[in-house]
Amino acid sequence: MSSQPAPVQTSPDAPASAALLARASEVIPGGVNSPVRAFRAVGGTPRFMASGSGPWLTDADGKRYVDLICSWGPMILGHAHPDVLAAVNSAAARGFSFGTPSENEVRLAEEIVARVEPVDQVRLVNSGTEATMSAIRLARGFTGRDVIVKFAGCYHGHVDALLASAGSGVATFALPDSAGVPRSSAGETIVLPYNDLGAVEAAFAERGHEIAAVITEAAPGNMGVVPPAPGFTEGLLRITKAHGALLVSDEVMTGFRCSASGFYGLEGPYAAGAPDLFTFGKVMGGGFPTAAFGGRADVMALLAPQGPVYQAGTLSGNPVASAAGLATLQGCTPAVYERLDTVAHAIADAVASELTAASVPHTIQWAGSMFSVFFRDGAVTGYDEAKDQDTAAFRRFFHSMLSQGVHLPPSAFESWFVSASHDDEAVDHVIGALPAAARAAATAD
Ligand SMILES: *Cc1c(COP(=O)(O)O)cnc(C)c1O
Repeated sequence: MSSQPAPVQTSPDAPASAALLARASEVIPGGVNSPVRAFRAVGGTPRFMASGSGPWLTDADGKRYVDLICSWGPMILGHAHPDVLAAVNSAAARGFSFGTPSENEVRLAEEIVARVEPVDQVRLVNSGTEATMSAIRLARGFTGRDVIVKFAGCYHGHVDALLASAGSGVATFALPDSAGVPRSSAGETIVLPYNDLGAVEAAFAERGHEIAAVITEAAPGNMGVVPPAPGFTEGLLRITKAHGALLVSDEVMTGFRCSASGFYGLEGPYAAGAPDLFTFGKVMGGGFPTAAFGGRADVMALLAPQGPVYQAGTLSGNPVASAAGLATLQGCTPAVYERLDTVAHAIADAVASELTAASVPHTIQWAGSMFSVFFRDGAVTGYDEAKDQDTAAFRRFFHSMLSQGVHLPPSAFESWFVSASHDDEAVDHVIGALPAAARAAATAD
């Protein structure tokens, strides 16, 4: 039986969250530990969550929401999945961290290497940011070159050299760049338009001998979902290989979500070879802070203690986090990926038909079961188009959904994420909220 959505409220009441935000703002800048959580793009009070179970979140006021953030990807099996919880409890009972090697990290590394064919070895780290930071250090060490090419709208974590035109949270705040990034660091980064091989060819023609690596999201999800055009990844492989540069495929968001072997599993293998390095995070930690970078054995061999490229971490390969990640990956069966597709399409189809019925311009784009809704007409192939959308319409849509118990990502520049625990009740709850939200989107402020 599907539950009926609550009536629409224009000013949702969240007194406990508001009180927590006030307390938080005293001791944490902006009251949050990651900017997008602050609701600056949509206004209003961010909901402080008290618990999660399956597809549902419960906030500090006791109100329930169907979760379409899923912690920005990791909760692919749903919140507090019993198998993951059991793995975490059993690992934690044996100790939290040893500062020595332990078996769980080996098992997690083996699982990743077994899934992504071009990855011979991985090094575990604590966040996606660390993964991309370390991957570009390794690429620079391997090539003896300094310059990194990235694409506008791609986000690779808050690494100095990669915080130029970085989509998502940065797009939300309309910061072209972050304060505090040295000019010298940004100066070694070339930012090019996404899906534009001509621009890549031109950059390499001019500075190819200085370029250590091109880093790209395997399928960008941080400016909304903008999949690579057919042939784009092949072209990047061809150009980087011709110039002795590396290709770093950032699968922090897409890895183990778009398929069992990430976006690579949907698009690869490639005629022009394979990306040299990959970065992973989000799903592979199952909600715990663990991430990885990996790739060709001859490149990975340069890492300390074997080689001269230093990289380390007190909690890297943490046994509890590794157990959570391993249980999550092992839980990602073919049936799980099928359910993600079914749920995502059911929701996206309903979004499209309700927005159409309310005459709200929109475009939905996909990478596996990741999708996003651009509030504009026409395909989005890069960052300029992504920015050209009606963010005010999104804001009204978002708040209507929130008041009806559906928690969307609080920005128009984000992918929506589903989990295999999104059952028919949760999906019906989302679909039931859409007509009013679409009408709200259509209503001018
Ligand atoms: C989330 C993300 C990162 C950063 O990961 P953190 O764990 O937040 O540091 C890097 N790259 C991509 C593509 C991401 O989506």
